[in-house]
Amino acid sequence: MPHDLVAGPPPAGPWAPPLAEPVPRALCTDCGLSRMALAKACGQACQFLRPDYAALETQVHGRARDPARPDELHFGPFRRMLRASLAAPRDGAQWTGIATRIGERLLETGAVDAVLAMAADPEDRWKPRPVIVTRPEDMAACRGMKMGFAPLLALLEPAAQAGHRRLAVVGIPCQVHALRAIEDRLGLERLYVIGTPCSDNTTTEMFHRFLELLDPDPGSVTYLEFRADFQVELRHADGRVRTIPFLQLPISRLPPDFFPLTCRTCVDYTNVLADLTVGYMGGTGAQWLLVRNERGEELIAALGDELEARAPGSAGRRAGAVKGFIANTERAAGGLPLRRMPAFLRPIMGWLMPRLGPRGLEFARTRVEMKAAETILFLRRKAPRRLRSMVPAHVWALVAPYGLSPQPGETQAAALAQGTEPAQGAGRPPRGGSS
Ligand SMILES: Cc1cc2nc3c(=O)[nH]c(=O)nc-3n(C[C@H](O)[C@H](O)[C@H](O)COP(=O)(O)OP(=O)(O)OC[C@H]3O[C@@H](n4cnc5c(N)ncnc54)[C@H](O)[C@@H]3O)c2cc1C
Ligand code: SF4
Ligand code: SF4
Repeated sequence: MPHDLVAGPPPAGPWAPPLAEPVPRALCTDCGLSRMALAKACGQACQFLRPDYAALETQVHGRARDPARPDELHFGPFRRMLRASLAAPRDGAQWTGIATRIGERLLETGAVDAVLAMAADPEDRWKPRPVIVTRPEDMAACRGMKMGFAPLLALLEPAAQAGHRRLAVVGIPCQVHALRAIEDRLGLERLYVIGTPCSDNTTTEMFHRFLELLDPDPGSVTYLEFRADFQVELRHADGRVRTIPFLQLPISRLPPDFFPLTCRTCVDYTNVLADLTVGYMGGTGAQWLLVRNERGEELIAALGDELEARAPGSAGRRAGAVKGFIANTERAAGGLPLRRMPAFLRPIMGWLMPRLGPRGLEFARTRVEMKAAETILFLRRKAPRRLRSMVPAHVWALVAPYGLSPQPGETQAAALAQGTEPAQGAGRPPRGGSS
C-alpha cells in the first residue's frame, strides 16, 4: 500500500518516495490518484470521464468562466493576464524559471511546508520523476520541461505522512483536475496550485523517437520548446542552439499512435483550475501568466520585484491557421496521410508565419481552438461514446465558428438528459478563493 511505504525522515534533497503501482485504467495519464488509498475516486475525479468544469471552477475560483468577459471562453476564469519574465532568468529553466522560483519563494518564506513537482529521472533527463521538495535550494532540480507522465498526486500520501499540511503543487492540467476533485478529502491547511498549460504530451519513450527524427545528435539535446514564433528550439549539451520551423517538423513520419488518445482529447489546455497558470503561449517571446484567484495573486506577490511584467499583446488573425489545422486533423483522425506543403513553400511560410501569423494572445487563442477541434475530431473517430461525457459545452463553443457542432447525443446536456452520465462535482458548493 502506498501510504505504508514511507518510514523515517525524508532524506536531504528532492525526495522521491517509493510509490505503489498504478491501477490499469482505460484513458489515463497516471496522475497518481490510482496509486493512492483514494484510488476509487478516479471515477469522479478523472478529467477523461465526466469533467464538470463549471462546478470545479466555481469551487476553486468562486465562479465559472464567463464567456462575456474577454478571453474567458478560451482561457477559463482569470483576474488578469501578464506578459512576464524573471529579471534574473534561472539556468536550466524552461523559460525564465517562474514556476520553480515561486516554489522556492513559498519555501523560503515558510508559506508552505513542501512543494510537489517533477524533477528529472537520474537515468533519463527527459523522464519526469515526482518529488517532494522541502528546501528552497532543491527546487532547482525541478527546472525545465520533461516529456511524459508521472504520478505527481501519489506524493500526497507520503507528504501527509511526513506531516506536511501546507503544500504547493506544480502540475499539468490532467493532474490538477484530479487534485481539485479530491482536494476536500486531503485535510490540508493550505494548498497553492501552480499550473502549466499542456498539450501534445506523450510517453518519454515516444518522445525519444521524435528526437531521433528531429536531430542527428538526439542524445545531446538538453532543451526543446515549441515557441510562440512557430519555431522549435533545440539546445545541445555543447551549447549549440538550433531552430526548426514548425512546417519542417517530421510530423508526418511519426507513428499514428505517437500521441496517446488522452493527449489528443484532453479539454483543458490552459490549466483553468490552477491558482496561477504559468505558460508562454500568450507571451510573445516572454512568459504568459494567468492570475486566476486570490491565491494566484499571493503567488505573484511572493516574487516581488523579481518579476518584470506588463500587459500581453495580441496581433494577427487566427481563423486561417485554425481552418488549415482542422482540415489536416480530419485526415489524421481518419488515418489518412497529412497534407504537406510543397517543399519550396515551406521556408517561405516558415519566414512569414512569425511575422504575419497570430501572435501573443491571438497565438494562444489559436492553439486553444486547435486543441478543441482536435479533441472533438479524435473522439468522434476513436471513442465516440466518450464524446458526450468528456466534452464540455465551452469546447463546442470554441469550434462553432469553424462549422463543428454537436450531432444528436454528442453533448454533456444530452448525456445528462438521458440520466446516464451524472456530471462529476455537480452540486458542489462554492469554496476557496474568489475572483
Ligand atoms: C508536457 C508539457 C507541455 C507543455 N506545453 C505547453 C504549451 O503548449 N504552451 C505553454 O504555454 N506552455 C506549455 N508548457 C509549459 C511550459 O513548457 C513551461 O513549463 C512553463 O512555461 C513554465 O516555465 P518556467 O520557466 O517558469 O518553468 P520552470 O521553472 O523551468 O519549471 C518547470 C516546471 O514544470 C514542471 N514539469 C516539467 N515537466 C513536467 C511534466 N512532464 N509533467 C508535469 N510537470 C512537469 C516541473 O515540476 C517544474 O516545476 C508545457 C509543459 C509540459 C510539461
Ligand atoms: S484520475 Fe488519474 S489515475 Fe485516475 S484514471 Fe484519471 S488520470 Fe488515471
Ligand atoms: S496533453 Fe492533456 S492529457 Fe496529455 S499530459 Fe498534457 S494535460 Fe495531460
